Amino acid sequence: MKLPPVDYEAPKTVSEALELLTEHQDEASMLAGGQSLIPLLALRLARPAVLIDINGLSELAGVSADDGWVRIGAMTREYVAEESALIADAVPLLAAALPLIGHEAIRSRGTVGGSLAHADPAAELPAVARALDAEFVVRSASGERVIPAADWFEGYLTTSRRVDELLVEVRVPAAGPGTGISFQEVARRHGDFAIVGLAVSLTISGGVIGDARLAFAGLSDVPVRAGDAEDLLAGERPSAELFEEAARRATEDLDPPADLHGSPEYRKKVATALVRRGLRAAVDNAGERQ
Ligand SMILES: Cc1cc2nc3c(=O)[nH]c(=O)nc-3n(C[C@H](O)[C@H](O)[C@H](O)COP(=O)(O)OP(=O)(O)OC[C@H]3O[C@@H](n4cnc5c(N)ncnc54)[C@H](O)[C@@H]3O)c2cc1C
Repeated sequence: MKLPPVDYEAPKTVSEALELLTEHQDEASMLAGGQSLIPLLALRLARPAVLIDINGLSELAGVSADDGWVRIGAMTREYVAEESALIADAVPLLAAALPLIGHEAIRSRGTVGGSLAHADPAAELPAVARALDAEFVVRSASGERVIPAADWFEGYLTTSRRVDELLVEVRVPAAGPGTGISFQEVARRHGDFAIVGLAVSLTISGGVIGDARLAFAGLSDVPVRAGDAEDLLAGERPSAELFEEAARRATEDLDPPADLHGSPEYRKKVATALVRRGLRAAVDNAGERQ
């Protein structure tokens, strides 16, 4: 299907991109990897007047670490993040989730920033960002601000980014000693969006769970933290009974959507199984990081 007519701009610097955004505001869409935007344009589900191609902004690509945080530039390709030794070591939950996104061809173009700005509630990276309390750095012509993940995802494909702001970086806290992680998902085929996904990160010290974080994908219009289950797990010794109760608490108040991939009841049942499975896996690999 052909794209609708649209003006095209290709800024060479972030400042040029911000000038264009200031000028065009909500008439503009940023073209990053194009893996979500181009299909939306082809299907006429998005009708921007101007495409601002940000692929020339090499200053927005790259992964670095400082002060306990890992910084990922918005234009870092998903496959580059997947291959990053720094991410594998310091953000193992992200490393576990990245290979589950689509297929290699999609990840070779798709960007970390594009996935998080697109904010598909069934996508893997938003659930990881929510579980780890990532921070989003956005820049406009008038300055920069940092938005916590809890405030970033506002609704279906909607974030708290203003129309004149560019997402420039996402910051994720580096995993500490005793961290165990797991990304679980059920999809119809490998590479499909998750029907239900679950990001788990926890710490174990002296055989006891410390910080526990669980965030679901595919159960609401935004990624959902399972706060009641997290509170239950903190300070307890891992056991099958504990995980069973955590799964019950994590899912009891959920009201998942119905679509052709699954009923709300099916999604809740899958979510319950994923909590048990994810907690077991995370506890098992927590011992590897001391
Ligand atoms: C067949 C197929 C299967 C897929 N399967 C999955 C999957 O299983 N899981 C998954 O998570 N994703 C999946 N994807 C989507 C893929 O991960 C995309 O790469 C991602 O959602 C969007 O990233 P992008 O860089 O391509 O962004 P684009 O498509 O270029 O942009 C997406 C949106 O974000 C905005 N945007 C992009 N970058 C910025 C920025 N820096 N600042 C502000 N706004 C910005 C754009 O304007 C646009 O509105 C799939 C895609 C395809 C085609």
